[in-house]
Amino acid sequence: MNCKYCGNPLDVFYKDMFDNRYGYPGSYTMWQCRNCDHLSLAADFTPAMIGDLYSNYYPRTHMSLEEWQPYKKAAGFMAWFKGLRSTAYNWVPENVRILDIGCGFGETLGYHQSRGCEVYGVEADENIKRVGDKFGFNVKVGLFDADDYQPNYFDYVTMDQVIEHVIDPLVSLKGIEKILKPGGTAILTTPNGKGWGIPVFGKKWAHWHIPYHLHIFSRKSMKKYAAEAGLVLEKSITITNSEWLHYQWLHMAVYPKQGEKSVFWTQSFAERTTSQRIIMKILAGFHRLKINYLITRLFDAFNAGDNIIYFLKKPL
Ligand SMILES: [Zn+2]
Repeated sequence: MNCKYCGNPLDVFYKDMFDNRYGYPGSYTMWQCRNCDHLSLAADFTPAMIGDLYSNYYPRTHMSLEEWQPYKKAAGFMAWFKGLRSTAYNWVPENVRILDIGCGFGETLGYHQSRGCEVYGVEADENIKRVGDKFGFNVKVGLFDADDYQPNYFDYVTMDQVIEHVIDPLVSLKGIEKILKPGGTAILTTPNGKGWGIPVFGKKWAHWHIPYHLHIFSRKSMKKYAAEAGLVLEKSITITNSEWLHYQWLHMAVYPKQGEKSVFWTQSFAERTTSQRIIMKILAGFHRLKINYLITRLFDAFNAGDNIIYFLKKPL
């Protein structure tokens, strides 16, 4: 097997990986390109399988329209200390035309609108329709399709923790290139394949998220994918929300067997054993000591954090 876009040979990175969050059956192999270090999961999913994966295994979050609040700007010392500028929306300026792909319940759209932006969103979860209707956002329920928009239309396009889920990232990037204005910017956040987490936590790294994550990028592979789509990787930085490290400890503390659900990720409090409850309480206490904040800030300072923000520019 060869790397899809750089043609170099792939090596097995990990064998026998499985869904250690929601218990989707099957075991999977993670491959790594010898040249660009791109990590890709060998999972030949059909659209029907993807439908089953997300409808029957991936948990649905409850949304209440009454409690809906737009996101706020992450600013100040505590926002820095917690790593809150890890999301793409924080990097979008005021008064621009923006599309957020995978906009969840539209909290980012509310944030951008309050800053004078013209906001568009696309989201597979149909709850977005109610939010869009109430607040007047331009939203589409479903998957991103560049043909839904005019070419050369947006100043910014954002994708927060989405690109690693798509079957073919090049199709998404080409679509983004098409709808961005010349000089426009795409901001993508995604787990970092070259961060400190993989060598330290190995197969138990929380961001493998098998088999939902199909692609884990390196800077080198993102640069290649972007170039193939006609975009230029202008900048990349790692900023990691410190909660992620807390989740990493919890993930490992109650690690499930293949085919079983994680009592941490599924929030099934009643199913937790006494010893699981105790260890999770201890970890919650540890998190209050802010050591997770210090560790994440340290690795981000070396640009080796677990979350990376990519800025891709469409040339003028
Ligand atoms: Zn490659």
